[in-house]
Amino acid sequence: MKPDVIVVGAGFSGAVMAERFASVANKHVLVLEQRSHIGGNCYDFKNEHGIVVHQYGPHLFHTSKEQVWQYLSQFTEWHRYEHEVLSRVDGNLVPLPFNLNTLDALYPAEEAKRIASLLVNEYGRDAKVPILKLKQSEHDTLRALGQLVYDKFFVNYTVKQWGCKPEDISPEVTARVPVVISRDNRYFHDHYQAIPSQGYTPMFEAMLSHQNIEVELNCNAVARLRLDAGSGAIYFDGERFDGKIIFTGMLDALFDYVAGELPYRSLKFKYETLPVEYYQPATTVNYPNEEAFTRITEFKHILPVTSAHTTIVKEYPQDFDRLDPEKNVPYYPVFTDQNQASHQRYQHQCNQFANLHVLGRLADYKYYNMDDAVANALAMFERIATDL
Ligand SMILES: Cc1cc2nc3c(=O)[nH]c(=O)nc-3n(C[C@H](O)[C@H](O)[C@H](O)COP(=O)(O)OP(=O)(O)OC[C@H]3O[C@@H](n4cnc5c(N)ncnc54)[C@H](O)[C@@H]3O)c2cc1C
Repeated sequence: MKPDVIVVGAGFSGAVMAERFASVANKHVLVLEQRSHIGGNCYDFKNEHGIVVHQYGPHLFHTSKEQVWQYLSQFTEWHRYEHEVLSRVDGNLVPLPFNLNTLDALYPAEEAKRIASLLVNEYGRDAKVPILKLKQSEHDTLRALGQLVYDKFFVNYTVKQWGCKPEDISPEVTARVPVVISRDNRYFHDHYQAIPSQGYTPMFEAMLSHQNIEVELNCNAVARLRLDAGSGAIYFDGERFDGKIIFTGMLDALFDYVAGELPYRSLKFKYETLPVEYYQPATTVNYPNEEAFTRITEFKHILPVTSAHTTIVKEYPQDFDRLDPEKNVPYYPVFTDQNQASHQRYQHQCNQFANLHVLGRLADYKYYNMDDAVANALAMFERIATDL
């Protein structure tokens, strides 16, 4: 099949584009994916105990975007799931984000009650108060609470996550971490919170199963594309390709790192399957302080299964290194002005090619939730499908 459209990457961004071009625009689409599977970072699989395991860290779907929910619901049934997180602090497992229940778990009952009513009086019920604001409160008790949340829940976790010194943590990051003045332990508050009932991979299979779509795995597309800036032409396997190219990989790799490498944080995942029914009382327990890992996730809590075994994963943040097979998965872009400027330079280079369209968390060098990735792809399709 000679493709009309080439899509690089089979994560949400690429899969939505491929599905739309195939089913709405009736185009032949070739999807090139460098990994041995589809689904991008949302890839999951059933292990020998029937437990659905997420290979690239826990992925919890949540959205308030009606269009995204309706679109994905064509390809999957859903298992309703609301995520709750505990944090291990001074040997106790307490709710996160820090809320009034966390206060109860950490303070003697009378003291917790006193602080709770101070918080409600000062900020109102259901308010989300940034810890930076709390740390600067004029009220001694609230200032002390802000300091405690910063010291015990936030600072060491952030240092581990980003590999930085505490003094280098920008106040903008601190300002985003809230203390929530409610008794709602849920981690997300979106209207729709659910997991594909058979896992993410079967949903991706349904999206990509269209007769107009061909998927080629284990294929680094960059090695097969040649971009000629002089003429604005793109060559695929040595031949000029004038159809649309949707690229969801890293722009620095696409342009052979001419403007330098875009820095990322990576993660190492250590999986363990244990001969116990359950390991911990919630899906995710954060370890902000003593351990080298940041959190443990137990998959059975996400999609329940009857088994005498359970599978957990520990996450160890580390620097990204594209040449080291242990560290070469880019998970989180590192947001600095300098890195954004480098990314923009690559984006300008993309503009030289009329048939090149870039999107997704890698190409945009942004952190996107899954629903953002889907929404962006649906919007891009609407924009660029008009000239077909
Ligand atoms: C640890 C972690 C946990 C997360 N948890 C959540 C969560 O709970 N909820 C949520 O909403 N979001 C979560 N996310 C975000 C979610 O993973 C992203 O929104 C989603 O993966 C974005 O899809 P994408 O297609 O843009 O990127 P990806 O899923 O990364 O897909 C890009 C694909 O392109 C392929 N590719 C790249 N370069 C090339 C090339 N040169 N040739 C061929 N193929 C190439 C890659 O192999 C990859 O498969 C999490 C992210 C991380 C890192």
